[in-house]
Amino acid sequence: MTRKELADLIFPNIKHDIKYYEEKYPPRDLKEGAIVTRYAPSPTGFVHIGALLASFTSYSFAHQSEGVFFLRIEDTDTKRTVENGIKNIIKDLKDFDIVFDEGALSEEKEKGNYGPYIQSKRKEIYHTFIKQLIEEGKAYPCFLSEEEVASIRLRQEKSKKRIGIYGRYARYRDMPVEEASQKIKNGEDYIIRLKSPGSFYKKIKCSDLVRGTLEFPENDIDIPIMKKDGLPTYHFAHLVDDYLMHTTHIIRSDEWVSSLPIHIQLFQVFGFKPPKYAHISPLLKNDNGVIRKLSKRKDPECAVSFYHEMGIPTEAVKLYLATIINSNFEEWYLQNKDKKISDFEFSFKKVSKSGALFDLEKLTNISKTYISRLNKEEIYEQTKTYLEEFDKDFLKVFTKDPDYTKAILNIEREQKKPRKDIGKYSDVKKLIWYMYDEEFKPSYENKDIDIEMLSDYLNNYYDENDDKNTWFNKIAEFGQKHNYTSVKEYKENPSLYKGHVGDICEMLRFVITSLTMTPDLYEIMHLLGKERLIKRLELYKTQKNA
Ligand code: GLU
Repeated sequence: MTRKELADLIFPNIKHDIKYYEEKYPPRDLKEGAIVTRYAPSPTGFVHIGALLASFTSYSFAHQSEGVFFLRIEDTDTKRTVENGIKNIIKDLKDFDIVFDEGALSEEKEKGNYGPYIQSKRKEIYHTFIKQLIEEGKAYPCFLSEEEVASIRLRQEKSKKRIGIYGRYARYRDMPVEEASQKIKNGEDYIIRLKSPGSFYKKIKCSDLVRGTLEFPENDIDIPIMKKDGLPTYHFAHLVDDYLMHTTHIIRSDEWVSSLPIHIQLFQVFGFKPPKYAHISPLLKNDNGVIRKLSKRKDPECAVSFYHEMGIPTEAVKLYLATIINSNFEEWYLQNKDKKISDFEFSFKKVSKSGALFDLEKLTNISKTYISRLNKEEIYEQTKTYLEEFDKDFLKVFTKDPDYTKAILNIEREQKKPRKDIGKYSDVKKLIWYMYDEEFKPSYENKDIDIEMLSDYLNNYYDENDDKNTWFNKIAEFGQKHNYTSVKEYKENPSLYKGHVGDICEMLRFVITSLTMTPDLYEIMHLLGKERLIKRLELYKTQKNA
């Protein structure tokens, strides 16, 4: 019995060889230095902000080099797969303008010449590669049951040995092919393991574009490459796919750094040139002084959908991610206000090795600056889109009189330093609700308000056609009549006066809006108009007398 016969027994239906696939998927016709990279998620239906960062990095590097960015779905772990996982991933990334040049589009559809891009559809390809390894004596069927593997692990843990099937634990590694094929014919369960050529006592060097040269002991563990269900393991599938899809750079989260010795070894076993690797450090969070990894369980900002639900503009998130990828981005962006993120030349050398702090407050500030540069029309449209999905009630109020709403949004906007108060579209209602009578159901705090004075002012002095200067001068003049003076005089002799002009404005603001802080009072009063201002004063009186 030969190894070839054993391989045929295991894979009776495999007709092609590796060469066939190499010809089917020839090298890509791209310009020198073009980066081919991929996002390779398991479709669990959740896109982590760290994964968005890795995708955004991959996308940016691929595109700035005129390369290719593709989506490959790694669904060999069938237990974790969810329905619509692929569509959700594509949608979540598209929200951030990250689009794929190639890859899966849904469970059924895909684009590109290097597919299938869903691993569960590539079984025959993986089997071809595994078959060759068995023929060459580089992989073997292993009959250890799950219980036996678990008990080996337990023993190793107890005696503080390295965990895994290697050395004397690899009981089936050298089993004669006759015996192995007999067991298979008897219907015994098995998996396929790599016959690792490595020695734990030798070192290998791997270079990582972010971390520099890394040194590891060689992998000497006979890792599983095919599971009982016939599907390959992640490690093996990634090798076959990245080889045939001609990936030049693997950019992924650093949880995979420790797998590098296995991955490099797999490429070596086949004699393939490994791609370049760039491992991105995890995003960290300052949790009341404790620095820890951003956690899916504890931090809502971990899910990419969070930003959409909060109405944080995708452009702001991208700007923040760009500052995380390359620390020099922020300065460049400040100096190049008219440029787009895609005009920036990202560099692997400037990617942080230690992991960046993900600071929601900083992101919100970036977002505030970003929104402050938009005009009233843009803010109106963006907010409307947000409300259409998340707050239909307020949408009605917001869109009833678009010009009125735009005028509200325009307060303190067309100036050199526009007001920076909107960080997310979900905040808009909280910022302008009092400008709408249907929303204006105030509960006033207790405050000393000179109602008679305000009533006299609104009824007899206020003119909604006054410009800002006249408006202010009139208040000052009017104040004298009620014994309110200028701030300066009041400070010099507080006992002589009831208060100063500022106090009148504060009282007006409070009665009109029920708030102590708002944007420009003149603009607010002007927009509300005399009639409604008087109604608000009446409302205040009735509530206070009730
Ligand atoms: N499927 C792996 C994951 O979801 C991909 C790792 C890689 O990019 O090689 O993390």
